[in-house]
Amino acid sequence: MTSFFSDIPPLDKTVPGVQAIEPIILPRLAVLYRRRAERLRQLEQQAQTATGEGEPISGREGYLGFAARVVDEQARLLADAPLSAEEAIPVSALLGDGLSGAERPSVAMLARCAYWQEAFRGIVENLSPFMPEPAAAGLVDLMYADRSELAAKAAALMAGDYAAVDAGRSVFLWAALSVFWAQAVALATPHAAQGEVLETGGARCPCCGAPPSGGLVLTGDREGLRYLQCSLCETRWHKVRATCSVCGGTDHVDYWSFETTDAAIQGETCGDCHGYIKIFRQDREPALEVVADDLASLGLDTALEQQDFVRATLNPFAFPV
Ligand SMILES: [Zn+2]
Ligand SMILES: [Zn+2]
Repeated sequence: MTSFFSDIPPLDKTVPGVQAIEPIILPRLAVLYRRRAERLRQLEQQAQTATGEGEPISGREGYLGFAARVVDEQARLLADAPLSAEEAIPVSALLGDGLSGAERPSVAMLARCAYWQEAFRGIVENLSPFMPEPAAAGLVDLMYADRSELAAKAAALMAGDYAAVDAGRSVFLWAALSVFWAQAVALATPHAAQGEVLETGGARCPCCGAPPSGGLVLTGDREGLRYLQCSLCETRWHKVRATCSVCGGTDHVDYWSFETTDAAIQGETCGDCHGYIKIFRQDREPALEVVADDLASLGLDTALEQQDFVRATLNPFAFPV
C-alpha cells in the first residue's frame, strides 16, 4: 500500500486526550497546489483514455490540463514571490476580531494591493501562448488595464457578481486573488483562530467570505469529519455532517450519486432551501481533490440542476455564465 500525500497537516499527537474538532484547517499550500495540478492531469488523462476508446489522444491538451497550468503558476508565485507579512495586512484587517465573518474587500482596497495584480499579469504573460487567439488577446488587454479597472472586476467577482466579468478572464483574476488571499489568511489566522467557536451562516468561508468549492469528508487522523473548502483562500472550515451547508437545515438533506450508495462523490441536496453542494469522500477515495474532481464530475451537477437544485459552490475554473 502506498501512502498518500496530503496537504492537510497531521494532528499534533503530543496533546493528550481527545482533541477538540478544529474549527478551521489551513492547508500546506505548496502541497495543495502540487496535488491539485497532478490530480487535474490524471483526470485529464483518464477522460482522454475514455473518449479515445482506449487510445490516449497525445499532444492535445484539454481544459483540465490547462487548469493544471494555472495551478502550476500559483505554485510558482508561492515559491518565487511569497507574500510578506506587510502585504498581508489589508486582508488581516478584513478578518476583524476573529472568525465571525470576514468583511468584503472594497474596490479601493483591491486597487491598493499590488501583489495580486502583479500575480495576474505574470499568469497571463506565461499562459496566453497556450490559449486560443481571441481569449488570449482579451486577457492581454486586461493585463494593461489600470489598477482601478482590475480592482472593479475583482470586487465584482468577490461579491458574487460573476456575470459582470467574462468567464475566461474570471479564471485568471480568481487564480491571482486566490494565491494572494490564501497566503494572507495563513499569515493572519493562526492568531485569530485560537480557541474560536465557529459560527458560519450560509455557505461562506469564515476567513474571506467566498463560497466553498465543495465539501470534504476527511480520512486519517480526522476520519469522518466534514469540512468545507474555500474556493478563494483554500481554508477548510468544519461543518457538521448531514446539515445543509446553505441554510443549516437537517430535515430534508439527501445524498445523490450515479453509482452505488457508497460513491466517493455525492451531491448533498436540501429540500428546504433547494441548495446543494458536492461532497468528496476522501475516506472512500483519498486521491480526491475538491477543485479537480469537481471539475471532472460536472455531469452530476447537470443531473441535480435538472431537479431544480441550485449549486451553492464555486469552482475557480468553471464560473457560472
Ligand atoms: Zn476563504
Ligand atoms: Zn438548505
